[in-house]
Amino acid sequence: MVFTIYSSLHRIEKYRLLRPVSVQGVMEHALQHRERVGVSDFVLLEDFRSEAAFIDNLHKRFKENIIYTYIGNVLISVNPYKPLPIYTEEKTKQYYKKAFFEAPPHVFAIADNAYRSLVFEHREQCILISGESGSGKTEASKKVLEYIAARTNHLQNVETVKDKLLQTNPLLEAFGNAKTHRNDNSSRFGKYMDIQFNYEGGPEGGHILNYLLEKSRVVSQMSGERNFHVFYQLLAGASEDLMRQLMLQNRPEAYKYTLDQTAQPNQRSTDASQFRVVQEAMKVIEIGEAEQLEMFAIVASVLHLGNVKFVQTDKGHAEILLHDASSGNVSELLKVNSVKLREALTSRTISARGDVVNTPLDLEQAHYARDALAKAVYDKLFSWLVARINSALVPAEPDSRSSVIGILDIYGFEIFPKNSFEQFCINFCNEKLQQLFIELTLKQEQEEYLREGIAWEPVEYFNNIIICDLIEARHKGIIAILDDECLRPGDATDASFLEKLSQKLDGHKHFKSHRKADVKMQKLMGRDEFCLVHYAGEVTYNVSTFLEKNNDLLFRDMQSLMATSGNNIVESCFRDCNLTSKKRPETAITQFKNSLNELIKILSSKEPSYIRCIKPNDVKAPMQFNEKLVSHQVKYLGLMENLRVRRAGFAYRRTYDAFLERYKCLSADTWPSYRGPARDGVQKLVEAMQYEREEYRMGNTKIFIRFPKTLFDTEDAYQVK
Ligand code: ADP
Ligand code: MG
Repeated sequence: MVFTIYSSLHRIEKYRLLRPVSVQGVMEHALQHRERVGVSDFVLLEDFRSEAAFIDNLHKRFKENIIYTYIGNVLISVNPYKPLPIYTEEKTKQYYKKAFFEAPPHVFAIADNAYRSLVFEHREQCILISGESGSGKTEASKKVLEYIAARTNHLQNVETVKDKLLQTNPLLEAFGNAKTHRNDNSSRFGKYMDIQFNYEGGPEGGHILNYLLEKSRVVSQMSGERNFHVFYQLLAGASEDLMRQLMLQNRPEAYKYTLDQTAQPNQRSTDASQFRVVQEAMKVIEIGEAEQLEMFAIVASVLHLGNVKFVQTDKGHAEILLHDASSGNVSELLKVNSVKLREALTSRTISARGDVVNTPLDLEQAHYARDALAKAVYDKLFSWLVARINSALVPAEPDSRSSVIGILDIYGFEIFPKNSFEQFCINFCNEKLQQLFIELTLKQEQEEYLREGIAWEPVEYFNNIIICDLIEARHKGIIAILDDECLRPGDATDASFLEKLSQKLDGHKHFKSHRKADVKMQKLMGRDEFCLVHYAGEVTYNVSTFLEKNNDLLFRDMQSLMATSGNNIVESCFRDCNLTSKKRPETAITQFKNSLNELIKILSSKEPSYIRCIKPNDVKAPMQFNEKLVSHQVKYLGLMENLRVRRAGFAYRRTYDAFLERYKCLSADTWPSYRGPARDGVQKLVEAMQYEREEYRMGNTKIFIRFPKTLFDTEDAYQVK
């Protein structure tokens, strides 16, 4: 851009004549400022194709404690790992009713923009937050919620609803979050939350959808990680009376499922005080004492279940000793017949051709059955809790004209040294969201150009639909092949699944396997692995346990036993398991695929905003910026591609009204008074500012500005004025 600096000075020079300020001084200050803190919008980067320049800009800002930067209307956020004074009431007010370029980039700006589009233009909104574990997604989603709560303070009758909306967080986090290596408060489930607004713009209710709770955590955790918070909170914070009712000892070390915790000083008191926060949240959500007791009975029963011991009989069968207190505690807490529970844990009935056969389990199978029950009970409790919260969030007086802002806080792309079924699901989810991002962004652009009568300039981009199809296509996608193997009677194994994949997907550009792979791949990949070329890069998956995790079997005996539970929650959760149906229950991946497609449908009908979160280091430390780590995330998040697409068209657009309102003082034709149509006024402004032909277009209702610099010059001129 030849005209940038020269024309900036030139343009602003005009206004110096109007007022005695040192323009040179202002410009120098502005340039130095940009040198130090980088640009607030990546579209302003001179070299917008260079990843190094991109990361350098992030780093500069990070050093100055500036964690937010835009790519157009996408917000990039870098986790500061320390409290920053940027969420105060005063800061909050700074974003009320502001256009993006009027205040520094902030999550509040995204929230305000969504809120205004909803209330004043009646377009439903969604805010999609992505990033890897520990990058700040959940914190960002809370800030959005808090901002909206503050923004609607002037409205009557919304206090209780807001209270409930805000209290859903501590409650869900207790049951769905855990300490991991990456994040002390890591969400182990995906979450989509709708906030419903009445016609006046007051929050009137909400609705939550949850995805894939990592239930394997209930029965085992990596060393140094913990089980879900609620277990420790209950053990540390429950009253003596409650502990007695739940037959619990207060040490987490006493239970197999919470044994692995690396206790930190103060951990216990933090857990205890958090327990009170959880109880308080339950009160706000109107979960009564009786219901609370049933919930905690389930939590306690899981702990006891982990301690159930099996011994081996002479015949190699598993048996529970008569004096095993744990299994007795489980049946007492879950209110199921104790003899039947023992039976269900050590044998299974199989009906074959009309005959019902009872087969004893060996030790390994019994452990599997026990853990499967613990996972199933906890998982169902979590889903029940979400449903329970939803019933508390149903609007008291539903407004037929109400509309929603959705917030999606979901796991980002994962590439670990060893990737399994879970990573496969998560990365599939990210492919789908990327697909939606491409569709919505381009569709939005095209539609707007059409509406505004501006010629569309095609943008080249990588369409990842080919990878989505590879995974989910009917009959020949990876999911279909996996389900086929899971449902195939006989000798299906993880290995036979891999073999089928290799046969059927051989030659696909985005699939690699050991079988037909080139020599280089053979060295890189084990015999039990396949590799997918995702939009964000190559990921190698290990097939071991794919079948088991996808089948997600809970023996039928166990299910029917749970359906007889005297604990209302357990009974209601297992009641619907269709035990008589001959049809196989849906596999885990198919359930996930269906709920994901539901989600995509919901999101497609809304106008999206994006928050992309970045984790600056692996040690949860403030002020540390690991460029290599950040570079990976810039790739996984597709940020360079995002920027490229953004720079291809017109970076900024404003309605004529808004543009004229702000900049009318820059032309003698529109200042001090102007009465004509806004479009003509803007035309006058553009002439006064000497925009070049390539810099802008005049649409039907908006001015389109190709280079953000043009806008910034205009803004600078305005500031000088
Ligand atoms: P994610 O949901 O992406 O896994 P979280 O939102 O839980 O990550 O953030 C992890 C931790 O990082 C938080 O517990 C908090 O300590 C810190 N953190 C995240 N965002 C911010 C922020 N904006 N300001 C200060 N600390 C933050
Ligand atoms: Mg989270």
